[in-house]
Amino acid sequence: MKKTYPIEVDCANCAAKMEDAAKKTPGVQDCVVNFMTLKMTVTFEEGKKPADVMPLVLERCKAVEDDCEIHF
Ligand SMILES: [Zn+2]
Repeated sequence: MKKTYPIEVDCANCAAKMEDAAKKTPGVQDCVVNFMTLKMTVTFEEGKKPADVMPLVLERCKAVEDDCEIHF
């Protein structure tokens, strides 16, 4: 399953950090962050619920970039 979420982040460098952090989150198969459109597209592993995984993604993104936000 793939879902796209609006994000808030200050620059392309931090957006790349968010992408890396999201990719390493358990339950995430892949993640692409687009800084131009401020969107994060997350591909979830089979059987994982976005509602369970997204709080972990946000936690890990905030660990690398305090000021970021993901609206899910
Ligand atoms: Zn930045």
